Amino acid sequence: MSRLHLVLGDQLSLGLSSLRGLDPATDTVLMLEVAQETDYVPHHKQKIVLILSAMRHFADELRAQGMKVDYVALDDPANTGSFTKEIARAVARHAASTLIMTQPGEWRVLEAAKTWSDALHIPVEIRPDERFLASLEQFADWARGRKLFRMEHFYRDMRRKTGLLMEGSEPVGGQWNFDQDNRKRLPAKVAVPSRLRFEPDPVTREVMDLVGARFDNHFGDLEPFGWAVTRQGALAALDNFLTVGLPSFGDYQDAMKAGEPFLFHSIVSPYLNLGLLSPLEVCQAAETAWRAGDVPLNAAEGFIRQILGWREYVRGIYWLNMPSYAASNALSAKRDLPGLYWGAPTDLNCLKQAVGDIRKTAYGHHIQRLMVTGNFALLAGIEPAQIEAWYLAVYIDAFEWVELPNVHGMALFADGGLMASKPYAASGAYIQKMSDYCQGCAYDPAIKIGPGACPFNYLYWNFLIENETVLKGNMRLAMPYKTLSGFTPERRQSIKDQAGEFLAGL
Ligand SMILES: Cc1cc2nc3c(=O)[nH]c(=O)nc-3n(C[C@H](O)[C@H](O)[C@H](O)COP(=O)(O)OP(=O)(O)OC[C@H]3O[C@@H](n4cnc5c(N)ncnc54)[C@H](O)[C@@H]3O)c2cc1C
Ligand code: SF4
Repeated sequence: MSRLHLVLGDQLSLGLSSLRGLDPATDTVLMLEVAQETDYVPHHKQKIVLILSAMRHFADELRAQGMKVDYVALDDPANTGSFTKEIARAVARHAASTLIMTQPGEWRVLEAAKTWSDALHIPVEIRPDERFLASLEQFADWARGRKLFRMEHFYRDMRRKTGLLMEGSEPVGGQWNFDQDNRKRLPAKVAVPSRLRFEPDPVTREVMDLVGARFDNHFGDLEPFGWAVTRQGALAALDNFLTVGLPSFGDYQDAMKAGEPFLFHSIVSPYLNLGLLSPLEVCQAAETAWRAGDVPLNAAEGFIRQILGWREYVRGIYWLNMPSYAASNALSAKRDLPGLYWGAPTDLNCLKQAVGDIRKTAYGHHIQRLMVTGNFALLAGIEPAQIEAWYLAVYIDAFEWVELPNVHGMALFADGGLMASKPYAASGAYIQKMSDYCQGCAYDPAIKIGPGACPFNYLYWNFLIENETVLKGNMRLAMPYKTLSGFTPERRQSIKDQAGEFLAGL
């Protein structure tokens, strides 16, 4: 009796539930590079290289541990490009009696997997993905009966549950959250550390050749490629962050600087999302650094909150609300995605910098994603599905379970406030305060309207005007709506006119 143990591209963890009980004498691990996954959005070239190279290295690791791995490469002439068809071919090859898999991270793949037992005429066992700190059942229990799903409440429960940064039943330092210390602008005199990057090895080079030939029309530079593709590399990247990034992570978490995409961020999201690092080990490493006196508490707490709080919370929100979540459009946004997101020339320096960073590295940190590309999409009323497909394509760490709630809920308010208590709409003043982008811009953030005015300024007020019916009752927007009520009809009209002209020109 031979069983197939399926390992998907973002399931590269030796402790994966689908590998449990594998008998090397009779069973086979199945790994598939399928066009269905590489093509469903036009992924950044580096993202495809990272995933395929990490899969190939993981297959070698499994073989080194004595497992049999049946690996179907993307350019195998017999590869049909579809999960269902490739699994059917593998079932026939191995005369398999059962398929064992771990629950996929994306709803669309799980829906497909649910059809496999009928299609293949064998039992398909779907095991829970245990690589998270909260199971989906635990999240559903937490959410049950709540009107508001606020991350902060969930995060405190997770601190209590895991004991991370706790002294008995109390948070260390007497506070749950040190966010008010974590909003500093980066002073010019503070040097940004250089980060550990990884030279492509022959396996990665081979994948780069494949990607260069097959996905040349996709957005993003293929070279230089500096991502780690093994667990060993991912651990080295984490270590580098703990030394050079974490001490200042808290202070400058929200800061942006032209030409410096990484600043003091960890750059471990792709490794966490692929399964090369576990969220618990990363959080424990940050806590250990704090307990050793190497990093301040606001840094360790701010960092752990992102993983223990935000990452687990968005996954819970995704699985609790799919598929209807993706279909909501609370602000009825319907504008097409402008070409500047794909690198078309723009005078808006903040967007030019953010998109330029992505082109080179497939990376942008949280505030670039939320307050530059996200804020602009919100203010311009870009249709959620279009901008979501962009986020899914361009970022190295983008998988729908984590991308969708962040874009749909946090950046666009398209879920009507399920995740965020108010839209993250901001004028140019925020970007000016947190970055040096405005210094090199054709526009002036101090000018609100008229020639030279920063488009974020009039788009911000235009957004509040256009969405007045839906948003005016939101208590957290009471102040801006009070200000807006003091605007003369002429001022309102000139905001609408300038915003309309700008948006039409996109
Ligand atoms: C509009 C938008 C889209 C996003 N899309 C993605 C995405 O596709 N994939 C993704 O992994 N993250 C996404 N994020 C969350 C966050 O921006 C990235 O996780 C982070 O920038 C990754 O870089 P880092 O590893 O250097 O993170 P750091 O700033 O060093 O944070 C540490 C870790 O915390 C976790 N984290 C932080 N914020 C979040 C969050 N809001 N949701 C989930 N995890 C979080 C990540 O695992 C990250 O590696 C998105 C955020 C926004 C606002
Ligand atoms: S002036 Fe406005 S458009 Fe230009 S960089 Fe600043 S915020 Fe962006």
